[in-house]
Amino acid sequence: MSGGRTDSGSGLVWAIDLGGTNTKLGIVAAGGEVIGEESLPTRSERSAESWADEVAAALRAIGEREGVDERSIGAVGIGSPGPLSVKEGVLTNPLPNLPKWRGFPICAALSERLGKPAFLDNDANAAALSEQWLGVAQGSDNVVVLTLGTGIGGGVIAEGRLLHGFSDNAGELGHISIDHDGPQCACGSRGCIELYASAGATAERYRRKLIEAGREAETEITAEGVFEAAEAGDDLAKATFAEVGQYLGAAVGGIVHAFNPEMVVVAGGMAEAAPYFLETIRSVVKERTFPDLQAGLRIEVSPLGDRMGLLGAARLAFMAADGE
Ligand SMILES: [Zn+2]
Repeated sequence: MSGGRTDSGSGLVWAIDLGGTNTKLGIVAAGGEVIGEESLPTRSERSAESWADEVAAALRAIGEREGVDERSIGAVGIGSPGPLSVKEGVLTNPLPNLPKWRGFPICAALSERLGKPAFLDNDANAAALSEQWLGVAQGSDNVVVLTLGTGIGGGVIAEGRLLHGFSDNAGELGHISIDHDGPQCACGSRGCIELYASAGATAERYRRKLIEAGREAETEITAEGVFEAAEAGDDLAKATFAEVGQYLGAAVGGIVHAFNPEMVVVAGGMAEAAPYFLETIRSVVKERTFPDLQAGLRIEVSPLGDRMGLLGAARLAFMAADGE
């Protein structure tokens, strides 16, 4: 956080969803309406200051284009890959996508350029806020969101509050280990769920199946490609997702025991393929958790698509500006 509370009555916020490849930004109203939005390449090889210059200019341009009076904008909300410090508004160690931006005071940088207080949180935490605000978890105070994409992120809302932990980095659910002797992970552990069920891991699993079956394996298989193959009726693609569902089910079982959520939401780039693994997750969780924790538990797919991060960034700005 930087710049303290806003004056009040601000009906709009600037929202920024920083990703390793693209930055989405826009102006969002208090009811969740996106007034204007845009996406620009993050270009993480450049300086973070140059990125902030471009983002501030683009946000102002959206405002001009949409006829928004800047005085009606109360704050800036930023969702970013972690690890980061919510309290300091700093990207402490945004790996692996933004290694050169380590230590960047992102809130101060945007607050200076835009003249509004800026608030930062982990992108998966922002996802959890958006699901509770406008998505499938509305009305629920105990929500876990898993973002399945390049990596696996997690956001936990427990008893109505976003869980931050001691150093603001709670909810790194992609690094729950499902095999203590599994492959080495960048975090230092072995067998993290991210290594089995991220987009890249899913594509690699499918590639190996194709080779085992003696079929031609393109070098550039993506999770999107596996999804398209499944949609076209490919049994190996479907089997790939079924295995991913088994692994995710084991991890979600652990998550359910840790947080006793009412709702677990599958979100992120892989969510569109969820019809091929959601039922598997549900049945594995049913096998692997105490019945008391299954009562009322729902495991669902995010309906928010790729606007989830932007809406979550907006929500955290509204909440912080209101002092929630
Ligand atoms: Zn790990």
